[in-house]
Amino acid sequence: MTRVLLLGGTGDALRIARQLAAHDVYSLAGLGKVPDDLCCAVRVGGFGGSEGMQRYIEQEAIGLVIDATHPYAAQISANAAQAARSARVPCWALRRPAWQPQAGDDWRMVADWDELTAALAPFARPLFTLGREPLAHLDEIPAHQFWFVRCLDSHADTARARILAARGPFTLEGERALFALQRFDVLVSKNSGGSATEAKLEVARERRLPVVMLRRPSLPAVDREFDSAASLLEALPRSH
Ligand code: NAP
Repeated sequence: MTRVLLLGGTGDALRIARQLAAHDVYSLAGLGKVPDDLCCAVRVGGFGGSEGMQRYIEQEAIGLVIDATHPYAAQISANAAQAARSARVPCWALRRPAWQPQAGDDWRMVADWDELTAALAPFARPLFTLGREPLAHLDEIPAHQFWFVRCLDSHADTARARILAARGPFTLEGERALFALQRFDVLVSKNSGGSATEAKLEVARERRLPVVMLRRPSLPAVDREFDSAASLLEALPRSH
């Protein structure tokens, strides 16, 4: 029976993990919630790079690696592809399709933090939905800006920034209310894809707000790619 190592940290990964068998392993970095109601084993924490993961694959007799991590978690995806290749086991990946701009959308694509801050220069009230990275830059907020940073971490507000600790999924009604209350003038986002955090884009569209979009990192080639948890689950060996 093929023993699966599933790399997760996303809703899609959890959906797959719920279908795994007792001998399989669901692996998390340890930043978010750790589920305690799965049939499969759950391990938490890094492997120590691709070599550490290769050792784990060999020691635990893993027969298939599944990368269902977030599209911006480029390091673990690179490690998974490399470790599986070195251990001579197949690597599958769930590559969530990116969101696409619609007619009338004003997306401003940026590659990194410097480009992002340059793109934000004309605006006063950005909503950051990039995770925790903006928290490291709270002392660099330009004089004409007040930041809203939505991320998983709790963090004290500052005189120049409001930190909104929240975990998706986010509803259209909730996003409409937040945007109306805080009067953001630009949305800052990753192109995460999927439906859990997509409502903010719809509200930005309704309010004709520009979106500063961080480009996706490039991800490694793997043996098989899937665009949904459902299609990946269909391809899993029958014992699952
Ligand atoms: P990353 O930069 O690609 O990974 C950093 C290191 O964290 C990896 O080298 C690995 O440590 C460890 N790691 C990451 N995912 C792991 C997993 N599933 N199991 C065991 N170790 C893992 O990742 P990140 O961007 O910091 O994201 C961390 C986790 O949060 C990922 O699992 C991702 O799916 C989830 N997440 C990320 C984002 C995002 O925007 N980046 C959003 C939502 C969820 P070692 O090298 O020591 O093995």
